[in-house]
Amino acid sequence: MTAQLIDGKAIAQKVREEVAAKVAQRTAAGKPQPVLATVLVGDRPDSAAYVASKGKACQELGMGSVSEHLPADATQGQVEELVKRLNADARISGILVQLPMPKQIDEERVLSLINIEKDVDGFSPINIGRLAQKGRDPLFVPCTPYGCIYLLEQAGVQIEGANAVVLGRSNIVGMPAALLLISRNATVTVCHSRTRDLPAVVRQADILIAAIGRTEMVRGDWIKPGAAVIDVGINSVPDATKKSGHRLVGDVNFNEAKEVAGCITPVPGGVGPMTIAMLMKNTLRAVEIQHG
Ligand code: NDP
Repeated sequence: MTAQLIDGKAIAQKVREEVAAKVAQRTAAGKPQPVLATVLVGDRPDSAAYVASKGKACQELGMGSVSEHLPADATQGQVEELVKRLNADARISGILVQLPMPKQIDEERVLSLINIEKDVDGFSPINIGRLAQKGRDPLFVPCTPYGCIYLLEQAGVQIEGANAVVLGRSNIVGMPAALLLISRNATVTVCHSRTRDLPAVVRQADILIAAIGRTEMVRGDWIKPGAAVIDVGINSVPDATKKSGHRLVGDVNFNEAKEVAGCITPVPGGVGPMTIAMLMKNTLRAVEIQHG
């Protein structure tokens, strides 16, 4: 069997076009433009690249963006002052604090300061708390897990009643993905580094979300025939045939899994492009919440 490919690049592009159309409508009607503020503390090149790509996406979709950068030795007080200023600025619709921050910064405290109506990354304790409670909806859902669920929905996967297995329990991917699946009435098992007999657990999954950051660890014979497989992992492996000398692979062995799964996301071109698309969707939602 060869699985249906879930084309995250195409689905993300469609989300972006929908967001751009709504932004254009707002602007034409004289309503405030969505504006995303990014906060970067320090000089990690990967974080700087992520922040730059978020600003670029805003520009492409007709949104505004403000890029705030503090030095690596910034104090807790300076970061908090910046977040408070952005909270108070009515032109700013959404605030994204790029993680991780330097170790002297208490990230949880900073995230808890973001006005819930501007928390487009969905990481404030209030949004996560609402996600974890039955019958309470968060204002914003964290972008990567939101993208995973959106891909499942677009692929026509039945979530309600499905046995779902989430590999990984991080605050940014695994745990919110599990909470989202529960809110959509899946029966969810969350696995982590202490889980016993991972292959046996994964074999029960109608839906598998893999977010462990372990190169192609999930083998084809772990997959239940017909399962939906969402591979969040981004791992770099050496590849002499590439100009860069490396290529990206997921947490799932794609070539093996595609022979067994019902549908599967590739890496790259699966979950990756969805993260920024969902951030743009959240930023549009933020301006709608604040200004109608
Ligand atoms: P973390 O390192 O924060 O979490 C990894 C999780 O996997 C932990 O819960 C850990 O368990 C678990 N784990 C690690 N090794 C094993 C193992 N051998 N068996 C079972 N469980 C294991 O990673 P993130 O959640 O931040 O990211 C996961 C992957 O997703 C990475 O490859 C990352 O690059 C990618 N990613 C992709 C994004 C995208 O846009 N596509 C966005 C964010 C992340 P324990 O809790 O016990 O330590």
